Amino acid sequence: MPQEFTLIDQYFLPLSKGLLPNELGIGDDGAVMTPPDNHQLVVVTDTLVAGVHFPLDTAPADIAWKAVAVNLSDLAAMGAKPGFISLALTLPENEQAWLNGFAKGLTDICHHYQVPLIGGDTTKGPLTITVTAHGWVERGGALYRSGAQVGDIIAVSGVIGDAGLGLKFALNTLTKSQQACLNSEDIQFCLDALNRPNPQLGLGRLLQSHATSAIDISDGLLADFTHILEQSIKHLERQGLTLGAEIYLESLPLSPAMQKWIQHTNEWTLPLSAGDDYQLCFTVRPEHWINLHKLAKAQGFKITQVGRITGQAGVVVKANADSEDVITNLLTSGYQHF
Ligand code: ADP
Ligand code: MG
Repeated sequence: MPQEFTLIDQYFLPLSKGLLPNELGIGDDGAVMTPPDNHQLVVVTDTLVAGVHFPLDTAPADIAWKAVAVNLSDLAAMGAKPGFISLALTLPENEQAWLNGFAKGLTDICHHYQVPLIGGDTTKGPLTITVTAHGWVERGGALYRSGAQVGDIIAVSGVIGDAGLGLKFALNTLTKSQQACLNSEDIQFCLDALNRPNPQLGLGRLLQSHATSAIDISDGLLADFTHILEQSIKHLERQGLTLGAEIYLESLPLSPAMQKWIQHTNEWTLPLSAGDDYQLCFTVRPEHWINLHKLAKAQGFKITQVGRITGQAGVVVKANADSEDVITNLLTSGYQHF
């Protein structure tokens, strides 16, 4: 069993490579990093607690991937480029096989997104992983939750709801007939959505110069979108104005698995309210939408309009933009905001 320092040297020190000659990562009392000229620092922290944020039997490589991914997703939502991360790791025991798996997942994601690990802390206790990610954004260029305006298009990246379905599978709470409507490819897709989310860093950079507001979807589309409304309204209330939104059910971007699920269950809670998707939800001036959509497509990002910002308080879910009927029962079955 490695001791604390051999553990750090063996598993974490290799991830401190690639720094500038006058920078210092793991090994001293603190890391020393150089901010790029004319940029602002964006700092985000997220903690994963075993049994709370992931099922206890989750593979250690997936835990590491996700602990970093959820942080990079926050950087993406701010429009920032990732800089570096630090890791505070609390472990119940110093178990080689678990650490090997964890280090593999950590290495995979650090290499994939080219972020060095520049330091951290290692303690003994119930399994808890805290990552802090630092990113850079051009001075004055950060993307906030607060810029949505009446008439803006509401859009999301990728497909949504799959991580929620993956969690049902991981927790073994699907009925036999629910499971039977999905094939093994669908199930793997949903488990990957749950365990290996892909932070939308490239899209975040594109949105930084095109969107009026953005948030990453960690708690479900409706819940997270509400934060955009709350923050955007603050700027308007002084002028006696308010904001609301229409969300179009038939526009929600769904994977084949999610389409089958909805056909089978006839309920939309997963794409509307399930968490852990780590896609971006954002607003765009309508006159910029076509151009943004084109640019996103050219760069390989799928973005879909799912609604529109209105001047009436509240969020209504409708079948589509032309529908007169408001589907109210969805609002009461989701988050308490509604
Ligand atoms: P100190 O006691 O001065 O806080 P530590 O013994 O905690 O130092 O850490 C020694 C070095 O290893 C530091 O550079 C620290 O940033 C790094 N380190 C410790 N734990 C981790 C970890 N889980 N991930 C990455 N780096 C770590
Ligand atoms: Mg320490």
